[in-house]
Amino acid sequence: MSERGVVGVVGAGTMGRGIAQVAATAGFSVLLYDADASAVAAARERIGASLARARERGRLGEEPETVLGRIRPVADLAGLEPAGWVIEAVPEELELKRRLFARLGEQNPRAVLASNTSTLSITALARGVPGPERVLGLHFFNPAPRMPLVEVIPGVETEPEVVGRAVAFVRQLGKEPVVAKDRPGFIVNRIARPYYGEALVLAGDGVPFETVDRVMRGLGFPLGPFELMDLIGLDVNFAATKSVWEQTFHLPRYRPHPLQAERVAAGWLGQKTGRGFYTYPRAPSEAPEPGEPRPLRVYLVGEGSLAGALAGRVRRAPPDEAELVLDLRVPLEAKAYPEGVPEGLPVLTLAWGHSASRARPRYPGAREVYGFSLVPPLAEGQPMELFAPEGGEVPPWLVGFARALGFAPVMLPDQPGGVGFRILALLANEAFSALREGLADAATLDRAMELGTRYPRGPLAWARLFGLPELEAGLRGLYAELGEERYRPDPLLVRRAAVGL
Ligand code: NAD
Repeated sequence: MSERGVVGVVGAGTMGRGIAQVAATAGFSVLLYDADASAVAAARERIGASLARARERGRLGEEPETVLGRIRPVADLAGLEPAGWVIEAVPEELELKRRLFARLGEQNPRAVLASNTSTLSITALARGVPGPERVLGLHFFNPAPRMPLVEVIPGVETEPEVVGRAVAFVRQLGKEPVVAKDRPGFIVNRIARPYYGEALVLAGDGVPFETVDRVMRGLGFPLGPFELMDLIGLDVNFAATKSVWEQTFHLPRYRPHPLQAERVAAGWLGQKTGRGFYTYPRAPSEAPEPGEPRPLRVYLVGEGSLAGALAGRVRRAPPDEAELVLDLRVPLEAKAYPEGVPEGLPVLTLAWGHSASRARPRYPGAREVYGFSLVPPLAEGQPMELFAPEGGEVPPWLVGFARALGFAPVMLPDQPGGVGFRILALLANEAFSALREGLADAATLDRAMELGTRYPRGPLAWARLFGLPELEAGLRGLYAELGEERYRPDPLLVRRAAVGL
């Protein structure tokens, strides 16, 4: 037996075998049990292959056989008796996990019992277990050997001393622990809901999902929402969505979307079935439309967070020499055409809180009105979303203007917010709600999102880049135009924006 101690792992599927690999790599003896004996054999084989790859790439300091030698299959639950830590990774069913913990609680009176559940309540799992004070959640991310984060989740009965030991244990495993409250989805699966949910709403409203993915990848996300759902498995993602929605007593913003339900019903579950939102192997995506850059002299209105970032890119001009009015104000003014500017110029308005259509009548002096969205920090080649009012089209000169600024123009059906702002604003709003409910402090929430999802930055960091007043104003505009609860600015965001934090 290893000096580090003995870890029992129940369930040798995707997560169980990853957790077993992590523990063995960290020097623990691992006892691996699965109700299906062939699953354990298959798991050892896959762990061996994964360790060999890690060794090849210089990520493993020992011989793969040495590490694999620390993982021993056991034929029944009784075989887990020597374990000081037992981590279960059986299917996501409350009754199944509860029965398992009740049994383990009797036979391993001193072991800490940890669940890798993604969405079930730890408090509910611990009920009826002998010694509920040593039950907690240890939530690993897929693939466990590569993802650095583990959420540590105490239930209401968990002893603080057990939480402290669990934090130290996670560090021994070479992972970064964050302690989260036992709320539906914990930190990461809760705050990440809009990444899928708002993408589905946009697609349901007619934005092609390829375009949603292109924009989000353009903003630095490794995968767009639809590509990510295809990778996770639509059934798995749908089940997690439903679970959070049900546990919050049907809070409307977590409502699952028919577009996803329909594909799950058809058995289009993503990469694993060869078809989800995309068909696999994927056809190469179309090349972006060519177009000449068209620098225009711009009269800039508004001071928000984008103004500074854009100042170095646009050719600013006084009103009588301008060819275009660029309006960066987020709230839509009643009379928005700026005073002192000759009538008849085209207007490009920042669409974070309104569609181009809704902006059109606010600029009676304008020749034409279009909407755009950009998400800070501005990087060369990032998507610039462009909208024309209902019945109109984005003209070639506007596409050329986006190119002249160094951005990749993306034409979208008219709607408020656009893809990038809407998804990021809702992620940030969700993070404010988690902060308000005390799930963790701000730094921990952002850290968890970066490590647990590979987002390029945490949602609260993004909120600071938008500017809290602009974020709030954008959300208010979305709420006014779309009329759904999901866009209502979180009360904590409103308060912090008000006092200038
Ligand atoms: P999986 O289906 O790949 O593996 C589950 C394994 O449990 C199977 O090998 C099955 O034979 C075994 N099993 C079933 N009943 C059992 C029992 N009574 N006793 C022992 N073994 C039993 O599932 P997974 O994707 O590894 O998910 C496991 C858990 O981890 C779930 O709670 C899930 O929500 C959570 N989780 C999954 C992911 C992910 O991305 N897959 C990420 C984080 C957490």
